[in-house]
Amino acid sequence: ATTLAARDPEIAEAIARELGRQRHEIELIASENIVSRAVLEAQGSVMTNKYAEGYPGKRYYGGCQFVDIAETLAIERAKRLFGCAFANVQPNSGSQANQGAFMALLSPGDTILGMSLDAGGHLTHGARPNQSGKWFNAIQYGVRRQDCLIDYDQIESLAHEHRPRAIIAGGSAIPRIIDFPRMRAIADAVGAWLIVDMAHFAGLVAAGLYPSPFPHAHVVTTTTHKTLRGPRGGMILTNDEEIAKKVNAAVFPGLQGGPLMHVIAAKAVAFGEALDPSFRVYQQQVVRNAQALADELMQGGLDIVTGGTDTHLMLVDLRPKGVKGNATEQALGRAHITCNKNGVPFDPEKPTVTSGVRLGSPAATTRGFGEAEFRQIGRWIVEVVDGLRATGGEGDPAIEARVRAEVTALCERFPIYPDL
Ligand code: PLP
Repeated sequence: ATTLAARDPEIAEAIARELGRQRHEIELIASENIVSRAVLEAQGSVMTNKYAEGYPGKRYYGGCQFVDIAETLAIERAKRLFGCAFANVQPNSGSQANQGAFMALLSPGDTILGMSLDAGGHLTHGARPNQSGKWFNAIQYGVRRQDCLIDYDQIESLAHEHRPRAIIAGGSAIPRIIDFPRMRAIADAVGAWLIVDMAHFAGLVAAGLYPSPFPHAHVVTTTTHKTLRGPRGGMILTNDEEIAKKVNAAVFPGLQGGPLMHVIAAKAVAFGEALDPSFRVYQQQVVRNAQALADELMQGGLDIVTGGTDTHLMLVDLRPKGVKGNATEQALGRAHITCNKNGVPFDPEKPTVTSGVRLGSPAATTRGFGEAEFRQIGRWIVEVVDGLRATGGEGDPAIEARVRAEVTALCERFPIYPDL
């Protein structure tokens, strides 16, 4: 009967300091969000104690009657949210959701066609160091030089040349809407499955602000912790009963043992929140805020890849200012604005340096920021970047300190987790 602080002060302090960081810094990492108190509570619950291998009503362990309620609610809410017939809510992460989809539909050595990491795809879509790139014959598509939009003509010709068993749509740095009907037509022409990984934009799909991957995708994978604003985890959706059976067998016993029932309970809570009309209002604000930020950055002399965004994220090309992604990430970090360096398409710099940063609006929108606050953030970013440029990449300590103080003041006006 000991509290965390008494039992393990080092961990308690690390958590307290992380809470402080989240409270006092502006989070612009596009893949992050701030979950509700209710989601936190479910995830921090006694459901973590329960083994529940199998699926609701068909478990390998006794005592599953209450975790079954949680998982059934998560499944039913996910199906309603995305208008589909089957949901597997057990993948522990987005990566495991993709592994589950691959294991359901593919065999080792099969050819897959996914977006390359440096064009905006995800590691798990066939990147060399990833299992997907080692165990499959992974062919990669990219974006067009002239406008950095997905090169559907290239996908089509690669598909006809390599005859992949699966084509993967989606990625981690795609600011524009993906043409699912076109991708399905290409998949159909070569007899491939279409897998849509909607991890980044799932919240926008749930809110009806981004086209649904259904009915085009055979399988949809996602994380639950990005725009969807749930706990860290993954999910697989489909409308096809045969595929659903294969997906269930792939996740358990194919890939995982006991599912994380506390996380599944938190997924159910998050899906319930996303079904509420207020979630659409939130997502509309997410997109407006991203567009306001992109506009302000362009006015400040930065380039935005594709000239803007339709979604929650943008890729900032820093080359007009002559600064690098790694130095910019660090300088903004000193000013308490958190983001990540990110290669821009055809980036001449190494992945550890890069010419860009990726910015997203979901987390700061959750804390209540609107367009005015996002325009202010845009002006701060331009000031910090101009300071970097003026100092040859070192950063201007006076500018960074002033912005940090102003960021802190803004964050205090929009508190998070006041009762924690
Ligand atoms: N798919 C996409 C498109 C992603 O952006 C990510 C996360 O970065 C993942 C999958 C993997 O999710 P996780 O980090 O939960 O494994």
